[in-house]
Amino acid sequence: MASEQFLEKLRTALGESRVLTDEASITLAATDVYRQGALPTAVIKPATVEQLCAGIKLATEDGYAVIARGGGASYTDAYLAVSERTVVIDMGDLNKIIEIDETNNIVTVEAGCTWATLRDELLKRNLRTPFFGPFSGLVATVGGSVSQNAISHGSGSYGISAQSVISLDVVLASGEILRTGSGAVKSGDAKTRRFFRHSGPDLTGLFTGDCGALGIKASVTLPLLKNPAATEAVAFSFPDFKSMHAAVAGVALLGLDDEGFGLDPALQQGQIARNEASAVKLKLAWSVLRSSPTFFKGIRSLLRMALAGDKHLREPGYALNYIAKGPDAGSAKSKIAAIREVALKTGGEVPNSMPAIVAVMPFAPLNNVLGPGGERWVPIHGILQHSDVVAFDERWRAVLDSHAEQIEATGTFIGGMYMAAGPNAFLYEIAFYWPDERTVYHEQTVDADFLGTLPTYPANEGGRELIETLKKAAIDLYGEYGGVHFQIGKSYPHAENRDTHELNLLRAIKKEVDPDNLMNPGVLGL
Ligand SMILES: Cc1cc2nc3c(=O)[nH]c(=O)nc-3n(C[C@H](O)[C@H](O)[C@H](O)COP(=O)(O)OP(=O)(O)OC[C@H]3O[C@@H](n4cnc5c(N)ncnc54)[C@H](O)[C@@H]3O)c2cc1C
Repeated sequence: MASEQFLEKLRTALGESRVLTDEASITLAATDVYRQGALPTAVIKPATVEQLCAGIKLATEDGYAVIARGGGASYTDAYLAVSERTVVIDMGDLNKIIEIDETNNIVTVEAGCTWATLRDELLKRNLRTPFFGPFSGLVATVGGSVSQNAISHGSGSYGISAQSVISLDVVLASGEILRTGSGAVKSGDAKTRRFFRHSGPDLTGLFTGDCGALGIKASVTLPLLKNPAATEAVAFSFPDFKSMHAAVAGVALLGLDDEGFGLDPALQQGQIARNEASAVKLKLAWSVLRSSPTFFKGIRSLLRMALAGDKHLREPGYALNYIAKGPDAGSAKSKIAAIREVALKTGGEVPNSMPAIVAVMPFAPLNNVLGPGGERWVPIHGILQHSDVVAFDERWRAVLDSHAEQIEATGTFIGGMYMAAGPNAFLYEIAFYWPDERTVYHEQTVDADFLGTLPTYPANEGGRELIETLKKAAIDLYGEYGGVHFQIGKSYPHAENRDTHELNLLRAIKKEVDPDNLMNPGVLGL
């Protein structure tokens, strides 16, 4: 069918204003933090779940691929189309909090709701979700994070995004809705009872991390917790990677931190200390604190400590930062004391500026999608077992040494960010920065005022080629150590690397829910 007729059908079903075909909308929908994919035929922006279902049905009936774009804060080609015969679904208007159910301690949101919106609403009632978002939560959506797995706020005690999901409403390629968890029970009005996840095989889990290959989430139900009244933060410095890793593994075993993250010297000194933004953030954090005295009562003293200065951020060494929470200051402090006891075995304590800022402002504006000098940025990561981590780090340093000349010649700098992923795994993230021209993504995402202060660069083909080479080398190296990944998208190997039985089952499920392979084709290698 000619695309004009198809577009007319979409307009009739969704309304003229909800079907976008202008160049700016199409180009933005085709661009993630890292690069651009095929330009889709249209972007639709449903305002209701009914419109979402209708849009998906119309698209797949006419053989168009459908891809959801949540906050668009990913960098693994996850929502980039592989063919122009694609409709991208902008989830931005499916952003409502459907119900905060304080009797059953659950919250249900439309999948396009951002983590920041959810947190703000819950805090008004002194509540939170266990995992409460990635650093990008100002724009990243609950549906996007759950669809590609995310880690950060709350992960120390409560695990990744998938571990904070009870039940999902997923729109299949047919436009029909599949419900998971207790919401799938047939009898009576059970579908509104989304209170529990596990009953037989875990189909909620099936759709977490699917990158939208199995369906498009319309809504997500998460558990509620009382928001802890007290927050404490602590930071350490280590002479080398090995001693930092020992502390990460030891602290993860305690399970007492709400979150923790490590930085290598390049990131600590390059991205953070070279960046005036850390002082700016402190000022901003202080003004936020003053404007909401009740809300921030629990972290007032902690922030005062942080404001003491950030000179230590310029010191060499690996940094490790922790935030701990509890119902009262005593309990948060005793968690910090236990963390300190482990970390001081291999490192020394430094001022807690960095974790204190994160505790006050878990969702910073997305200005760090560019480097401190306006460079392009893309991270890559793998999740490894602890016994492989130090060897992996040594091998990776050797890869970098073997490319030292090109790294220097292209003005590239490379840093590392680290986290425990539960007690038994370690997330090793590599961040690449290189001078290169900005894309429409940066123009649209970074605050205009801030963007104006940054230098610009001409196209840097050599730099881009080097980043591709290093990304591939890193992915191969993760593979050698059996590494696995969040945010698989179309960048990390998945289908290629799975055991036959598991892959056959995944393909059979895909065939059942998406017989013509129109749901985000190419993602997960499917
Ligand atoms: C500055 C910055 C900081 C970041 N910090 C973190 C961090 O702390 N932790 C972390 O894990 N990641 C982090 N990320 C990566 C990314 O932001 C997160 O993974 C986030 O969860 C992506 O959510 P999103 O809504 O932007 O998803 P998108 O980028 O829009 O989409 C991601 C994938 O999910 C699919 N998808 C989106 N919505 C749906 C839906 N409703 N149904 C089905 N599929 C859907 C898309 O098709 C795509 O495959 C960061 C990124 C940036 C730029």
